Amino acid sequence: MPTRTVIVLGGGIAGLASAVRLIQRGLKPIVLEKRPFLGGRAYSFIDRETGIEIDNGQHVFVGACKQFQKYIADIGVDDQVTLDDRVRFPVVKQDQISWLRGRKLPSALSNLSMLIGYRHIGITDKIRILWGLLSIKRTNLDIRYDQVTFYDWLKVHHQNEDTIKNFWNLIILPSLNDNINCVSAYTGISLFKVAFLGPIKNAAIGFPLIGLSSLVGERAQNLIETAGGAIKTGFSATSLHMESGQVTGVRNQDGELVKGNAVISAMPASDMTSLLEHSADIQHDFFKPAESVQTAPIVAIHIWYDRPVLSEKYMAILDSPLQWVFNDTLLKSRDDSGAQHIVISLSGAWEWQDRSKEELKEIFTAEMARTFPQARTAIITRFTVVKMLEATFRVSVGSLASRLPQKTPVPGFYLAGDWTDTGWPSTMESAVRSGNLAADCVAEDIANR
Ligand SMILES: Cc1cc2nc3c(=O)[nH]c(=O)nc-3n(C[C@H](O)[C@H](O)[C@H](O)COP(=O)(O)OP(=O)(O)OC[C@H]3O[C@@H](n4cnc5c(N)ncnc54)[C@H](O)[C@@H]3O)c2cc1C
Repeated sequence: MPTRTVIVLGGGIAGLASAVRLIQRGLKPIVLEKRPFLGGRAYSFIDRETGIEIDNGQHVFVGACKQFQKYIADIGVDDQVTLDDRVRFPVVKQDQISWLRGRKLPSALSNLSMLIGYRHIGITDKIRILWGLLSIKRTNLDIRYDQVTFYDWLKVHHQNEDTIKNFWNLIILPSLNDNINCVSAYTGISLFKVAFLGPIKNAAIGFPLIGLSSLVGERAQNLIETAGGAIKTGFSATSLHMESGQVTGVRNQDGELVKGNAVISAMPASDMTSLLEHSADIQHDFFKPAESVQTAPIVAIHIWYDRPVLSEKYMAILDSPLQWVFNDTLLKSRDDSGAQHIVISLSGAWEWQDRSKEELKEIFTAEMARTFPQARTAIITRFTVVKMLEATFRVSVGSLASRLPQKTPVPGFYLAGDWTDTGWPSTMESAVRSGNLAADCVAEDIANR
């Protein structure tokens, strides 16, 4: 029997991961991507003003991201990421540095022990937090937890404004790219269950050591093409093609038709729903909830100093607009001839997304100088801003219903993408999981045809 062909729409992490899994299942993927490059929302590019390769946004993962790490190993770049052995990061609050650092203890005890030396929270509040974590452990999640915010849930479980600001939101804001009083208790509780109440390594932070395009795109492309698959960029899918009630192809903006035995949409929810609007044969209530998927912005501020201003690889900053500051020079082990490239990552960045580059420069260079003494005398050699207005999908109250399963009621049509039902928030892990799930559904259905 000839090898069956599966069309994958979208060359982001979900599309590439599904292509790799299709190959592993003996199928031939054809990845069609509308942009001229792969990686989707995780890419790097040469900044026009500075001429330097930068990522579209700081991407980190945690040890619990097992399928992302397997994907990275499958495409042969596992030596290009690094993962700490347990949770440890410094937190600055009003000029004082204190570490959230797990001790060498068994399992979840190590993660809980991070509170011991954390001086931004007093003893009574530490007991509150432990109570909150215990309550999370005892909670059996169901859909009711999607109807209440994590903030309200924490309040009911004896948390106060200080524990919420100095601990819970410190984790929630960068992980879910949204404020704690918007995200659902369902997602907040799941996050802490998986990362902080599981094995030690689950909460450890990991980083790419190279640019995102090289990490997630280039090597996947090599693997897919070497294994007989194909990748076509500059192909913007505009409608699905059906034969005898089955999706068998896709057309692009020029009317070009690419045919296959099945189609996986690995596009963001809004692109998928717009594709269906133009596919007259496929009108199904099943897809309706995807129309309510909402997104949240991330703004990354890049500052190049002529000398080191930060000795750590990354830091969280409380009581400051800085949020999280990353030392790109150190993270990527680059020799910047004594200079330093700093990335300030602003999550839930509605407040910053419409500000001009000049305004942002004024605010954030002053804030850096206020927080890091070395930045007061250092000279800023370059400055740039990357705004990703639809960086992640929101996990607000009621959002669970919009996360569709990978298998659809339309024969031959499957869904992937971080926003589909994976149990994970908008992350690279969710993207890989969705791709794997979609590819497995296709492989099983094709085997049973
Ligand atoms: C600034 C920023 C920071 C982030 N930080 C982190 C982080 O620290 N950790 C983490 O895990 N995640 C992070 N994320 C989220 C992570 O990048 C995403 O969850 C993940 O990349 C989503 O992958 P995806 O394949 O599902 O979707 P996408 O990456 O959006 O891929 C979809 C692809 O479909 C293509 N497409 C759309 N329409 C069409 C069409 N009609 N025809 C053909 N192709 C089409 C798009 O061009 C795109 O390439 C961050 C995201 C951003 C933007």
